[in-house]
Amino acid sequence: MTDTSITIALSKGRILDETIPLLKEAGIEFVDDIKKSRKLVFPTTDPNVRLLIIRATDVPTYVQYGGADLGVTGKDVLMEHGGDGLYEPLDLNISRCRLMTAGVKGQEAPQGRLRVATKFVNLARRYYAAQGRQADIIKLYGAMELAPLLGLADEIVDIVDTGNTLKANGLEPRELIENISTRLVANRASVKMKHALLQPIIEKMGEAVEARRGVEA
Ligand code: AMP
Repeated sequence: MTDTSITIALSKGRILDETIPLLKEAGIEFVDDIKKSRKLVFPTTDPNVRLLIIRATDVPTYVQYGGADLGVTGKDVLMEHGGDGLYEPLDLNISRCRLMTAGVKGQEAPQGRLRVATKFVNLARRYYAAQGRQADIIKLYGAMELAPLLGLADEIVDIVDTGNTLKANGLEPRELIENISTRLVANRASVKMKHALLQPIIEKMGEAVEARRGVEA
């Protein structure tokens, strides 16, 4: 990676669809049809900028170690990662959702030690400790909603948007842990060494976010 090139790591999936228009307003567009391509690294209309499309959970790691200068991922993922070595210059205000605890509808959380299933194990451990509640955290990679139904856990910690997934599985939200949105993150060294290249991108994306907030209000 030379000092005149910028690599931006994007999260694939729903965040990607909402990131593309913001990048476009910063003058960065894909050249390839990404839906048809099996590439992972993409050139853009800006000769200095290339884009990676990777799993959201890998984005902080790529940026932390300088594999990418900038990254786009959810606050949930950043909280789980811990944010070491990362700046968070911009809230992109997209893919908004809530990080919540949830349990079986109508059932109270037990008073004593809790069993909690989640993919956000670090974050959950910190949350329950801060609440002064003892919790055994069980790592799952998906379908968290099943865990309370099958007696694997008393609660789950998961992302909630409409709440339909919880409802469809006989669960209900309990406590709000954090309001989540997608963030732009930057490698700390890149911010210093490539300031002149990164700053215009961050500013233009920031303007695009503000313009959208204006429409929303
Ligand atoms: P919902 O049924 O609308 O509450 O959506 C909940 C499910 O969609 C969760 O299990 C999440 O995995 C996923 N989800 C919803 N919004 C987001 C988001 N902004 N980022 C990541 N996953 C999300």
